[in-house]
Amino acid sequence: MMRLTISSLVITFFGFGILLSSCGEDDACVEVTWYQDVDGDGLGNPEVTFEACEAPAGYVSNSNDLDDDDATNTLVIDVDETLFQSDGNNLTITTVDCTLSDGTVTKCFQVVSNSVPVDHDMGPWCPSNISDDASEGGIWLEGGEVYDVDGAFIENMANFYGDATWKMYDDEGNVYITETQQDCIDAANPNVGDEYQNFCVECLPSYITDIAVSFLIPITPVFQNTPAQYQMGGPPGMNTIPSTRGIALNGVEFSAPAPVNNILGAYTLAPFDDAGGHINVNQGYHYHAATGVSYAVEQSDGHPPLIGYALDGYGIYARTDIDGNEPSDLDECRGHTDSVRGYHYHVDAAGNNNFINCLHGAYAN
Ligand SMILES: [Zn+2]
Ligand SMILES: [Zn+2]
Repeated sequence: MMRLTISSLVITFFGFGILLSSCGEDDACVEVTWYQDVDGDGLGNPEVTFEACEAPAGYVSNSNDLDDDDATNTLVIDVDETLFQSDGNNLTITTVDCTLSDGTVTKCFQVVSNSVPVDHDMGPWCPSNISDDASEGGIWLEGGEVYDVDGAFIENMANFYGDATWKMYDDEGNVYITETQQDCIDAANPNVGDEYQNFCVECLPSYITDIAVSFLIPITPVFQNTPAQYQMGGPPGMNTIPSTRGIALNGVEFSAPAPVNNILGAYTLAPFDDAGGHINVNQGYHYHAATGVSYAVEQSDGHPPLIGYALDGYGIYARTDIDGNEPSDLDECRGHTDSVRGYHYHVDAAGNNNFINCLHGAYAN
């Protein structure tokens, strides 16, 4: 009797031991690459890597250190305010004192913009008839793709979205379009009423003659080991990260993603123009996609051109170079480092209704 009890105890312990060790080996752990950080500046050396589930001591998740012997030697490029395009009216840039999200007390550029691009026209957005070609309308972003909002797109919406409720035109093929500033305000409301169902919503440049939007950008970016993630909703005050992604070199805002599900859920369409922008009366004209239209500063080494700055002061560059190649080593924010530009971002594909995924630098509070 006694012997039985002991042996069953042993079996139990033995079984438990096997269970423990097999748990350790079969753990659903995904090994990722870690980069050595000898100088402790939070930037990893791309040349010295280690594959593991969790960061070994002295290793970090990014490969952004150009010189891992010297924490002070990392290339940091200041915002160049001379690269912003101005006609004397569209924007003013002043230097102000500011405190960043990591506590750094520094200087920022305060960019105040009337939101009107000086390098390209705004619109068109909504075609007026289903016979119109692509030059009469803007674009729509869906599932990573950019679609021309021409007459055929409007005519095909019931098919495109698999929902017969869509019919945005009358018997003569004329597209229902918001007509007044009040329509543009009401139809852009999150609780848009049924009266705007099947309306193409467009707000015109004549509605935004008195806009002044302000952006505060650290002149000298400060890299953070842990990127700041953009918030989608959530309780106010939990996160101070600005929702604005950045500012184009023509002073136009790179906005948070357009709420396309809300827009479509109300059976409205609020197209972007071919430059990826549209208007609301509070923000003025703003971009939701980088389509290669806005002013860009070419790079002498063939790297994709600079199109603007993120709100942490790091440059935002086009997605692809002249050969159509996208960098393959972007981090979770869509950033990487090179020996000319230091840390910088590459913008997302236009069809993704997105610019960058997070901020790797401190932002102005
Ligand atoms: Zn918008
Ligand atoms: Zn790059």
